[in-house]
Amino acid sequence: MSADLRPAWAEVSKSALAGNYSRLSRLAAPAGVMAVVKADAYGHGAVATAGVLFEAGCRRFAVALVDEGVELRRAGIDGEILVLSEVPPETLEVARSEGISVTVYTPAAAKLAAAQPDDLLVHLKLDTGMYRVGARLEELAEIAEHLRGRELQGFWSHFAVADEESPESREFTSLQLCRFEDGLARLAKLGVTPKERHIANTAGLLYHPSSHYDRVRVGLGIYGYHPGSDRSGVQLVPALSLVSKVAFVKEVEEGERPSYGRRRPLTTRSKVATVPIGYADGVPRALFTGGGEVLIAGRRHPLAGMVTMDQLVIDLGPDSDVQPGDEVVLIGASGEERIGADEWAQRTGTITWEVLCGISKRIPRRLVEECRG
Ligand SMILES: *Cc1c(COP(=O)(O)O)cnc(C)c1O
Repeated sequence: MSADLRPAWAEVSKSALAGNYSRLSRLAAPAGVMAVVKADAYGHGAVATAGVLFEAGCRRFAVALVDEGVELRRAGIDGEILVLSEVPPETLEVARSEGISVTVYTPAAAKLAAAQPDDLLVHLKLDTGMYRVGARLEELAEIAEHLRGRELQGFWSHFAVADEESPESREFTSLQLCRFEDGLARLAKLGVTPKERHIANTAGLLYHPSSHYDRVRVGLGIYGYHPGSDRSGVQLVPALSLVSKVAFVKEVEEGERPSYGRRRPLTTRSKVATVPIGYADGVPRALFTGGGEVLIAGRRHPLAGMVTMDQLVIDLGPDSDVQPGDEVVLIGASGEERIGADEWAQRTGTITWEVLCGISKRIPRRLVEECRG
């Protein structure tokens, strides 16, 4: 474990997480929100995040791995925990004993799950067009046959382009909903009524009201970001701030080129600050090429050169009074300014999800009441 001595850390705001959860819950009602806390709650810290959400009333969580579910249980998180893919057969027993619900989408997995005692909750996943995992419509009858005599806790699917606005994407989302309805109708004919139906992710919840069914599985929205460009008008507050402190300030002559690769000359004699956080912490090298900036005392300052493994160099311009020890906000608010993980995503050619998951284990997470700024 880190001794927590370095001046680089992430703050995760309880009020932001709880506030986002309650706003999204109101929007989803009467459907309930299942909070997606896989990948260490998108880098926010799974145990801490689930604890805050539980206090805010959340009783359903989703994870990608049995290990992630076990981590939550051992930390004392109650409520349903669903694993979003089929689990390795040898982990079924652990899942059941820890009260972790499983997903099935093959006859083989359905058979194994059905052989477990009845307290193992089973959700059946249909592939409606994501083509990652899920049963095909034609397989539903065989899978249902294996699960006969057992309550089906859930029937679910997953959207591929619910965040995208183009007519083709909207049409594809409608097609996925039609296939989901088709699956439900087939199950009904087989005499199977799932207790819960769910297909919506954050984008489904925000942009496709007809996709809410009984549950919505919300990840990104809980962490305070809209998938794609927002058209919902729902106000969300980014929960994570990434913060460090100036370690060193020096004056560098006009024309000099700080950092590896000597990529960019200073246009004038400038002060340059070194900040002890780098790509090993999840600050991508591409942030420099993409024009990345940081906030110091409410002002934006550009990176002066390539991100290195452990340190950044910041161009403070010719007359700055920034001192060693001053706080540097890489993600979050400072004064009137704010840099979001979505801004990093735009600058580095990726998506907000990847930026958040990319903040590495080396950064300690601190739970705080309020966001800064
Ligand atoms: C990750 C994931 C979600 C959550 O998606 P967001 O876009 O972050 O809301 C929902 N369902 C499944 C199956 C997922 O893998």
